[in-house]
Amino acid sequence: MAVTARSGMYETKAWGVVNQPDFINMCVGIETRLTPFQLLDALQAIEIQTGRRKSYKWGPREVDLDILFCGERVIDEERLKIPHPYAHLRGFVLEPLAEIAPEFVHPVIGQTIEHLLRSLQTPA
Ligand code: AMP
Repeated sequence: MAVTARSGMYETKAWGVVNQPDFINMCVGIETRLTPFQLLDALQAIEIQTGRRKSYKWGPREVDLDILFCGERVIDEERLKIPHPYAHLRGFVLEPLAEIAPEFVHPVIGQTIEHLLRSLQTPA
């Protein structure tokens, strides 16, 4: 697995459950021969090694590794949904992502990351 792009780190207020410490968000681009499901296994193994403990939904966690996109691929299974269902709705995802892949087109919505980020910032 090779890291091909890396955004800055963004400190953001917790979303959903707000009375908890801030989160740090970042996005990386990778190239890998792993299938998306193998990649998910690998990321979950890293989460366990990093000492992630079970937390409540949207609660504090040591690390949370999500797959946002996998090129044009669309997967809609219980264990893995790509594009990530919230990716286009969350500024804390789109802002770092726009740093490394502004022209990437969301394969379901058909808009670039930059456009999706601007739409969030200036709601119609
Ligand atoms: P989380 O609490 O955000 O770590 O949620 C992890 C759960 O979401 C796991 O059970 C994964 O199987 C599932 N999941 C579904 N789609 C994705 C995705 N694109 N990236 C990471 N986890 C996913």
